[in-house]
This record gives sequence, structure tokens and C-alpha cells, in this order.
Amino acid sequence: MAHVELADVSKVYDDAQGTETAVDSVSISVADGEFLTIVGPSGCGKSTTLRMLAGLEPVTEGVVVIDGREVQHLVPSERNVAMVFQNFALYTKMTARENIGYGLKHSTQLSRPERQDRIEEMAQLLGISDHLDDKPAELSGGQKQRVALGRALVRQPDVFLLDEPLSNLDAKLRSEMRTELQRIHDQLGVTTIYVTHDQKEAMTMSDRIAVMNDGRVQQIATAESAYDRPANEFVGTFLGNPSMNTTEVTIERRDGTATLRTAAGNVLTTVPAETVPTGVSRATVGIRPEDLELRSADDGSAKVAVTEFQGNTNYVHLTVEDKSLTARLTTDQTFERDEQVALAIDAPDLYLFDTETGETLKTRDRATHTDGGRS
Ligand code: ADP
Ligand code: MG
Repeated sequence: MAHVELADVSKVYDDAQGTETAVDSVSISVADGEFLTIVGPSGCGKSTTLRMLAGLEPVTEGVVVIDGREVQHLVPSERNVAMVFQNFALYTKMTARENIGYGLKHSTQLSRPERQDRIEEMAQLLGISDHLDDKPAELSGGQKQRVALGRALVRQPDVFLLDEPLSNLDAKLRSEMRTELQRIHDQLGVTTIYVTHDQKEAMTMSDRIAVMNDGRVQQIATAESAYDRPANEFVGTFLGNPSMNTTEVTIERRDGTATLRTAAGNVLTTVPAETVPTGVSRATVGIRPEDLELRSADDGSAKVAVTEFQGNTNYVHLTVEDKSLTARLTTDQTFERDEQVALAIDAPDLYLFDTETGETLKTRDRATHTDGGRS
């Protein structure tokens, strides 16, 4: 187990196509035994970050520290880091036992019986004891995945890295393996860094998430805290499905109230003046689907485009001017297609972002959410 630190780590690829900054001055500190997930859209630099940690890719700049030791100049085998990839490949001619033991044989001084003990212990932890003598062709997708995890973990790494390891599994197995990975982490307590592009996966799995975009870390926080108090518009809209609704407004203060108007000049909502930071006369408003309230009104500014009933939730997709908004309602609130509705937006639910920089000007205000933790 180990504390892991990336300090101002950058990666610039320089090839025939030109130079590209894949990772831009990333700093992430992962506590001993923590489970941290790096999440962000495809191409944002997640894999490159992980590969630099593992030693599979040299850093262009910056420092990588594992357990107090600078490792950025060390080869992978000197770092005691294990990594599992999306396209993990097992040796097809070897049994599960031989696959799991393969790394042990070449990287440790253990005797044969000691190796067998370790393999069997790992198989038990992973629930594949009965399959140790099967070859990969005889194993299910989930069992193969477990063998790949076992092969990485049996060496007792200080740091466990996972790069989208569940992407090739079907939805049911994926959710099963998510729970499984958390259980394994809880039992072994190994410092784990997990990479995914799936915000839902990130939010459900980890102690903290590091949200990346365009090579940069946008925010490191607990999932709940990043969802409620995003550092910027990117984080606010990336986390949550359906996404936060956003629209640009102008803001006019008068007599203790602030009136938010859309680009076409229609009033979106009127809120107490103190809702809006002083000096802000333009902003991007954000409102989460669960916070948007609707009522039927012939003179309402929004029109129902599609309603999507999902058992315990009713999603209503609306058009306001040329924008689409989504409201998440309970199933007893029903609206008809093409119905005119009025939006009710409560001041505490509003997010405001700087339209130019995306910086958060105001987050929604949940007095009950007190988990702190933004860094
Ligand atoms: P992610 O894992 O978040 O999808 P990557 O770390 O794989 O993103 O890639 C980040 C950026 O770096 C992308 O724009 C990608 O095209 C580029 N990139 C990755 N590997 C290489 C490479 N070996 N050579 C050149 N560019 C690369
Ligand atoms: Mg990747």
C-alpha cells in the first residue's frame, strides 16, 4: 500500500502529426488505501496519466511519487504497480492458475508452494477457486475478468491501476463487477486508481473522483460534492444524467430582485437579488433536471416535446425558444406532448457560471449536504 502523488505532470506527444499536449500539468494526490476514479470524456488524457504512473509512458515534465519515492525515471517493474486494461489478454494455452501465477514466477523469489498458496488465496477472494484448472476458453467473461484481476493483484502491488476494465462487459456483468471491485478493494485496502469515461460508474464507485477535460484536472472531490458544487460548468454538466440544463441569461437588478432573461428577452425567472453575486450582469444559468418544476399554463414559456416514462421517474423534455431542457418528475406529474408549461425555478436550486471562463459563480444550495471536500 502506498500514498501516490502526481505533481505537475505533463505529457506532450511530438510526432509527424505535430505536437499535442495530452496531459497538462496534472496534480493528483491519492491517500494510502484510497479508491480514486479519474473520469472524463474520451481523449481527455486519462490513459496517458495512468500509463505515466505505471511507467509505461515517460513523463515530459513533473514528478511521480509512490510511497515517498520519486519513480518517474524507474521502469515499471521497479515501481510495484499493477495495471489492468480494457483489452486484457489472458494466455489462452495456460490455465487460470498458470495465468494468475505467471507474474509471480518471474517477479518474486517465492517457492513453488508459496506461489500456489498465494494463487489459491487470490482465487478464493475472487470467487474462482473452482475454475483454477480451466483454460480461458472454458471461462465466462466475468471469470476471465477475475483471472485478469487476480494476475495483477497476486503480486501484492503497492498501487492498483485499472483502465476502463469493465468496458467490454455487458451491463449486468459490469454492475456486478463494480460491486466486486469495491469489495476486493475493501478487503485488500490497496491504493486504487480507476479510469472510466462513464460518469455514473465514477460516481458510484469511489471515495473521490478526479474529473479531467482536455488534459487538465478540473476538480477533485467526493462525487456528491462535485455534483452539488462543481468547480465549473464542465464538471456541472458532465456529472449527472440527464445533464444539467444550461442557458445564457442577462441579469437585471431592481428593488431587491434579480430578473434573469433569455437571449430572446423573455423572463426565465426572478430571484432575490442576493442570489446573484454582485457585479454579474451576464451568466450561464444551470438547473438540474430534478430541480426544474413545471406547471400547466397556456401562456407558459416552454412546450413539451417528448415525455419519457421510466417506471419510477418521468422525464419531460421541453423546448424553450430554440433550447431543449429536461425535467425529472415523479410519475404522478404528467404532461401531454405539445402542452404549454411554465417553468418554476427556485433561487436555491440555481447554478450560475461565468459565460466566458465557465467558472462557477454560484452553486445550488443544499443545506443538508455537508460533506465538504472540494480541492
Ligand atoms: P483517454 O484515455 O482519456 O481517452 P488518452 O490518454 O488515451 O485519452 O489520450 C489523450 C490524448 O493524447 C488524445 O488526444 C490522444 O489522441 C493523444 N495520444 C494518446 N496516445 C498517443 C500517442 N502514443 N501518440 C500521440 N498522441 C497520443
Ligand atoms: Mg483511455
